Amino acid sequence: MSFINNWLRSDIQAINAYHVPPASDVIKLDAMESPFALPEDLIGQYLAYLADSELNRYPSPGADQLNQTLRELMEIPKEFGVLLGNGSDELIQLLALACAADDTILSVEPSFVMYDMIAKFTRLNYKGVALTKDYQLDLALMLQAISEHNPKLIFIAYPNNPTGNTFDRADIEVIIKSTDAMVILDEAYYAYAGDSFIGDIAKYPNLVVLRTVSKIGFAGLRLGLLIGSQETVSELDKLRLPYNINTLTQVSGNFLLKQKTEIKKNAAIIVEQRALLLEDLAKVNGLIAYPSQANFILFKAPNAQALFDYLKDNGVLIKNLSSAPKLTDCLRVTVGSPEQNQQFMQVVNKFYIQQGGTRD
Ligand SMILES: *Cc1c(COP(=O)(O)O)cnc(C)c1O
Repeated sequence: MSFINNWLRSDIQAINAYHVPPASDVIKLDAMESPFALPEDLIGQYLAYLADSELNRYPSPGADQLNQTLRELMEIPKEFGVLLGNGSDELIQLLALACAADDTILSVEPSFVMYDMIAKFTRLNYKGVALTKDYQLDLALMLQAISEHNPKLIFIAYPNNPTGNTFDRADIEVIIKSTDAMVILDEAYYAYAGDSFIGDIAKYPNLVVLRTVSKIGFAGLRLGLLIGSQETVSELDKLRLPYNINTLTQVSGNFLLKQKTEIKKNAAIIVEQRALLLEDLAKVNGLIAYPSQANFILFKAPNAQALFDYLKDNGVLIKNLSSAPKLTDCLRVTVGSPEQNQQFMQVVNKFYIQQGGTRD
């Protein structure tokens, strides 16, 4: 037996590593990234801005300027606190670190896998409450699970990943009011959704909202934020590692995230493309495409594994969820640029035409 196998906690050995497939030379529609690069005419200015940063110094510890930039971009009211993380994943981990041994994290299933994984890393209990058949919240089941498991943290992705829908707002408010757990509304896809819970933070002391810049064009920056009452944020801030937001991220964010008009324009293009893609997918015989408030679409396809493989062989990478519980035959495609979406649809249509002879 190797050193590490002898040494490592057995529950960590049992975890399957988070798998990220290689993606050179493919149309990458698997990870909800934005297809839009920095506009050419901003590159010079951006580089000059970067050249001014002092990489021999530690970053600004509070990243106050970046904090302000994000508040303006996302229109966060002054009375709330904002805590920055190295991606919102880091903030999920920070919340887990705030828990005591034996505490429970509760979320819904299917949802974002990191809630469960981070519960495992930090030795907390995890309870995933099943959604209904059409991926809605099962309020009665949620309330029952909350009273049975007495969770410390309740994560609700809004819109949900990988299903793409938002849950009923009234149901969520009932959940928030029913518990003394901290309820985290994870709004990673806020830019593509019609509703947000930021405005509700003043009403519910146990509510915080997570956001990220990863799904609005800046996945490479690794920058997420937690929005809550000033009091909540200043207590949680004790758990943040010093300098967790590096200088390049701070400087880049202070330039790139000020392009509010451009960022909003890009989000509007994706929302428009989402509608077209949904229409095109629905036209394919046998496919069921689920409505989405995010920059991706979940769809159920007969022979999902074969379609996934065929897409990959033809240079289009999407996400295969077909072996996950409750997601039998499901695939998830990120909404890309108009050209990427057309190429994706062409391959999908070709697959079913080839299959045509054998399908009933
Ligand atoms: C992508 C995603 C995140 C992760 O965001 P990062 O800021 O890139 O760590 C968080 N929550 C949900 C629901 C996501 O889909």
